Amino acid sequence: MYWNREAETMPMERVRKLQDTLLRDTVAQAAGSHFYGERFAALGLTPADIRSVDDLSKIPFTTKDDLREDWPYGFVAVPREELVRMHSSSGTTGRATVIFHTADDLDAWTDLLARSMYMAGMRKGDVFQNMMTYSLFTGGLGFHYGAERVGALVIPVGAGNSKRQIQLMSDFGTTAMHIIPSYALHLSSVFEEMGLDPRRDTALKLAFLGAEPHSEETRRRVEDYYGVKAFNSYGLSEMNGPGVSFECSCQCGMHIWEDNFIVEVIDPKTMEPLDEGEEGELVLTTLKRRGMPILRYRTKDLTRIIPGDCPCGRTHRRIERIKGRTDDMMIIKGVNIFPIQIEKRLMDIPGVGSNFQIILERKDYNDHMIVKVEVQREIFTGNLKQLEDLRRKIIEELKSDILITPKVELVEPNSLPKTEGKAVRVIDNRERQQ
Ligand code: AMP
Ligand code: ZN
Repeated sequence: MYWNREAETMPMERVRKLQDTLLRDTVAQAAGSHFYGERFAALGLTPADIRSVDDLSKIPFTTKDDLREDWPYGFVAVPREELVRMHSSSGTTGRATVIFHTADDLDAWTDLLARSMYMAGMRKGDVFQNMMTYSLFTGGLGFHYGAERVGALVIPVGAGNSKRQIQLMSDFGTTAMHIIPSYALHLSSVFEEMGLDPRRDTALKLAFLGAEPHSEETRRRVEDYYGVKAFNSYGLSEMNGPGVSFECSCQCGMHIWEDNFIVEVIDPKTMEPLDEGEEGELVLTTLKRRGMPILRYRTKDLTRIIPGDCPCGRTHRRIERIKGRTDDMMIIKGVNIFPIQIEKRLMDIPGVGSNFQIILERKDYNDHMIVKVEVQREIFTGNLKQLEDLRRKIIEELKSDILITPKVELVEPNSLPKTEGKAVRVIDNRERQQ
């Protein structure tokens, strides 16, 4: 049941002690990097000032801008020849941040992924199809090595080429897949096009969904359509990538591996720490990375720690499904809205297809939201009244959640743009329409 019983079920007091030790090592290591060396000197801080996790607040937060400013090697804390791998964030705005690993760093990361996938039920003998891009993006190689460590047979197909994905799945008896949730929804329409049904025509039983925010409703759709149990996988390149936090078989929040990361949740405005259970921005500190330690990294991801123990027996605390990023929040007519609120409502309405897009416009100094929604084929080709009823229902449902009335356009299945990577949900045209 456990990949590493000792590590996964360690009593919290011992986890805390372990964190103190690892934090001291990490801070001493970080002080050797250009960035933290200068930062500590400017603050008059020495590694000896950080004795335990209680001292963490003496260290300022690290942001993506810090990583960009001391680009590319400013955070590296080992001689350059110790580095064996580079990855980067998939960010589309600004310069992508890069992360470097030593061989030991990669080993620790691989172990976290093996632990995570094993926890969700993958075993030696499973056939694992990795449908994430193999590139600078961490989702490909991270899962790849983790799955090999578990002992699964890995099909390193990468992203895209939907028909080939389906062909591989059915030819080689894929039992577990790693897939971006928006792509999992899209792939269902390709199954339909090919006249195939994953429940009948594949041996799938597990899906690991990660890399982008998605709702419980989307998980349920994926589970129903593919006949699998789907597990949420959270991570970010700055903290290695996937393997930071993962769901166990209870599917009641994601265990965050506290023997590898220190977890804080802060109020993103005041930057003050929040209590367990309160929603805010996740801040993480690496504890095992030597090549490029990062202290108190502001992830911009919004979540909360779920109070209480998990029935699975693991002691590492759980975080809730990510609600979105602080920079994903749309402010429309003064109302704060996250794309996931729209996704959640849409995916719960029968007849809604697998993709949608939010367009923001500004006319006469007024903001307008247009939601384009793909509908299922039989509805699209059905009668007009049915379509209009669905459109009205969507407006009602969205309005009750986001409090403004969006314009809703129903469109044909597969007509909205689809990326191979993370979905682009929002097109904001307001800037140029002032
Ligand atoms: P990258 O560094 O390019 O891999 O992007 C990491 C970001 O992807 C995170 O900071 C999150 O915003 C997002 N992300 C990754 N996994 C998830 C997930 N399971 N749920 C929600 N957002 C996620
Ligand atoms: Zn659990």
